[in-house]
Amino acid sequence: MKYFSTRSHNNFVSFREAVLNGLALDGGLFMPGKIPSFSKSFIEKLHAFSFQEIGFETAKKFIGDEIGEQKLLEIIEHSLNFPVPLIDIDENTHILELFHGPTLAFKDFGAQFMARTMEYFVKDFNEEIVILVATSGDTGSAVAHGFYGVEGIKVYLLYPSGKVSYIQEKQLTTLDKNITALEIEGTFDDCQYLVKKAFTDSYLKNKLNLSSANSINIARLIPQSFYYINAVKQLKHSTKKIIFSVPSGNLGNITAGLIAKKMGLPIDLFIAATNSNDVFTNYLSMGNFEPRKSVQTYSNAMDVGNPSNFERIKTLYENNIVKMRNEIESFSFDDEKTIDGIKEVYSKYGYIIDPHGAVGYIALKKYLELAKQNNMDSVIVETAHPAKFKDVVEEAINAEVKIPQRLAECLNKEKHSIVLDSKFETFKDFLSNTH
Ligand SMILES: *Cc1c(COP(=O)(O)O)cnc(C)c1O
Repeated sequence: MKYFSTRSHNNFVSFREAVLNGLALDGGLFMPGKIPSFSKSFIEKLHAFSFQEIGFETAKKFIGDEIGEQKLLEIIEHSLNFPVPLIDIDENTHILELFHGPTLAFKDFGAQFMARTMEYFVKDFNEEIVILVATSGDTGSAVAHGFYGVEGIKVYLLYPSGKVSYIQEKQLTTLDKNITALEIEGTFDDCQYLVKKAFTDSYLKNKLNLSSANSINIARLIPQSFYYINAVKQLKHSTKKIIFSVPSGNLGNITAGLIAKKMGLPIDLFIAATNSNDVFTNYLSMGNFEPRKSVQTYSNAMDVGNPSNFERIKTLYENNIVKMRNEIESFSFDDEKTIDGIKEVYSKYGYIIDPHGAVGYIALKKYLELAKQNNMDSVIVETAHPAKFKDVVEEAINAEVKIPQRLAECLNKEKHSIVLDSKFETFKDFLSNTH
């Protein structure tokens, strides 16, 4: 499979190159030259495949022969090694729990797969690879855990100082070895800007083997399609319409779902559920894409003012907003509504949902009301474990949220970070002096 940039559709690179570069030279994002498709029989026989088998069959289509089958199998086995249950909260409503990985958020899927893939691709390299990751909270720790201890790869996590939760910060700053946390005095968008700018800086580009692990990396996007397929499998030949509500920020998660649909997965509609950072919601309703500074919310992993994967969605729909609107709805909600959502899911279903999932829940509810639908199979994508947002959730439901063991462990470790202001020169000096 060859990959092209969302900004120039005629330059193709290999999967390896797309993965190692992260971003295309022209600043665009990589897309598969052709979206592969599933055979009808594969879709009909989904129930016969395990999650790992689904991952393997799907990955093969995107990678071709650039990774041998045996190696790919190993990568899949190492990265898809936690459960992805679909919980029924009522007859038509299901919660897809994507938080059973090491850092308790869906980003573990992409991060684990990407880390193993990169490890494979750089093993013949003599020089160290430097990975820069801007994180609004969850990306950094997922990526860090994926790469932790991987030889030949050094990771810098850039996170906005004071804008991630206590627990998220602990997860970001308590790994050692090849992982360094950079605490940036600015917003997530500043962090993302620094990373993007580093890639276009010829001095840094020559001095370091830079790579990116943000949701812009195609190796993070591909494995995110696996759980949509696995969820449809778990709906067991539903004859109802199928709808997924996806809590969205940088739009990577939903893009993976849209790609799975394009491959032939029977999903009728996606909801891009956003918080007050509603640039994409506004785009779908008004037709203008107007990036803004991000604002802070309880669902902070969605606090993105200029969602990168918008370029991929546009490419997927050939810039046609009408087609896009046929398959994607979008609604945005503020923190107050988010809290109401957490409360309602708890009181109505006895289920503890995190602030991101809560935005997905209320967006779904709103859609079903507006569309006067009550007989669709609805899947709320629950992107994080509620314990990651313990304070907010406990206050909303007035009950305790238990902390899973794997999270409790890192809370006892000491924080290590390097504080930098948000100027590019500062960041550049730091990188040049460290390497
Ligand atoms: C990253 C993240 C999101 C947003 O996903 P995108 O792919 O950026 O749209 C939603 N919820 C949680 C918990 C996240 O970590």
